[in-house]
Amino acid sequence: MSHINDTIVALATPPGQGAIGIIRVSGSNTIPIVNELFRGKDLTKVASHTIHLGTIRDDENKIIDEVLVSVFKGPHSYTKEDVIEISSHGSQYILQKILSLLIKKGARLAKPGEFTQKAFLNGRFDLAQAEAVADLIASENASMQQTAMKQMRGGFSDEIKKLREELIHFASMIELELDFAEEDVEFADRQGLIKLINKIQTLIQSLIASFEYGNVIKSGVPTVIAGKPNAGKSTLLNALLNEEKAIVSEVAGTTRDFIEDQIYLDGIAFRFIDTAGIRETDDKVESIGVQRTLEKMKQASLVIYLVDLMNDSIDSIEEQLQGLRKSSVPSLIVGNKVDEAKPELKALLEDENAVFISAKGKVHLDDLKARLQAIVAETKSSSEVIVTNTRHLQSLQQTDEALNRVIEGINMEMSNDLVAQDIRSALFHLGEITGEVTTDDLLENIFSKFCIGK
Ligand code: GDP
Repeated sequence: MSHINDTIVALATPPGQGAIGIIRVSGSNTIPIVNELFRGKDLTKVASHTIHLGTIRDDENKIIDEVLVSVFKGPHSYTKEDVIEISSHGSQYILQKILSLLIKKGARLAKPGEFTQKAFLNGRFDLAQAEAVADLIASENASMQQTAMKQMRGGFSDEIKKLREELIHFASMIELELDFAEEDVEFADRQGLIKLINKIQTLIQSLIASFEYGNVIKSGVPTVIAGKPNAGKSTLLNALLNEEKAIVSEVAGTTRDFIEDQIYLDGIAFRFIDTAGIRETDDKVESIGVQRTLEKMKQASLVIYLVDLMNDSIDSIEEQLQGLRKSSVPSLIVGNKVDEAKPELKALLEDENAVFISAKGKVHLDDLKARLQAIVAETKSSSEVIVTNTRHLQSLQQTDEALNRVIEGINMEMSNDLVAQDIRSALFHLGEITGEVTTDDLLENIFSKFCIGK
């Protein structure tokens, strides 16, 4: 489908941020349009996947810049169309000038994500893979990058395709019976069908379960450090954060700014929330009741609960432990001040799977970190593939619900056409993930979140 204005152009690098700037052009008129501005080899005659040195000139033949152009002929390109990437010097002026010259010659400015959208529409990859491109660009740590890369390379899509094939097989058996409805034959053995659906649901549910971990990878773990006043919360927070600061500043030329109140363990961010409360050291006299502490903990998905082994009492610790047991948020009990611990207080925590540290002396902080990592690792599902996208999660949940209705229909001996309808609905929702079923609104919504030039 080519029409006059289908050739798009955009900056692929943020302007003014690097020594080189890259302008990307894609569409059926890419080569003639760039060729009009480029002095060097005749680009209409060069082979695909070649790079050429030359100049870009304006209408008065004035040299704008010396550039390299990389030529990719469709379908062997990112968008499957003819693509040229112009590498120029990174000056904002030069880049804007080249962009406006290209537009003058007939290209139009690309919308956010339009290159990737073209790649999707031209069958370069499916929707889940296209979405992974955005995740890859946004990835800030090893886990995010690995998950996005796996998804972009089709790991998740393969899983969904397998599920769809199983379902289609199932649907065909039911539909076959529909064709012979009058004769009242039963091709599909009911128990066999239910077994198959159960198998599919197990897979879907493990994907759904992986979302929690996916979310942890993407957004980090909101963590609260709680405990009575003077338990050592701010000392611990500072010890953890200062260590992180030291690690971050050791990496020369690091682009990631130090993020306040966050540490990374094995690529997973632990975001300490409500740290303002911890840092307010003035009103220590006012004792925060256990109840209030528990209220605060509700915003977190993980609580590091500090117990003061030096100054607290048996009764008070027992009360705190009881409160913690009632809370639904996973918590790690930490006995602090081991350097001056009262043995009877320490004994209270022995059965609580606690970690014993000295926040002030920075003793056993590594044990504490290992335990934090272990808690997160427990949420890792059995699924190899991790779902990180809310849209995918919703489609999986809808598929699961439709399959529940299928089982219900079979058990209640409902007519085959009703059962077939629910199977089709399950297939529809699975298809939404990979883009076999799409609407314009959905595509608009997905690609508008991309950056321009991708
Ligand atoms: P918060 O009110 O829970 O934030 O407690 P702070 O971090 O302000 O600590 C209260 C007091 O306990 C301070 O005087 C700290 O120096 C002291 N403290 C913290 N951790 C330790 C530790 O591991 N051992 C000892 N002996 N004292 C500690």
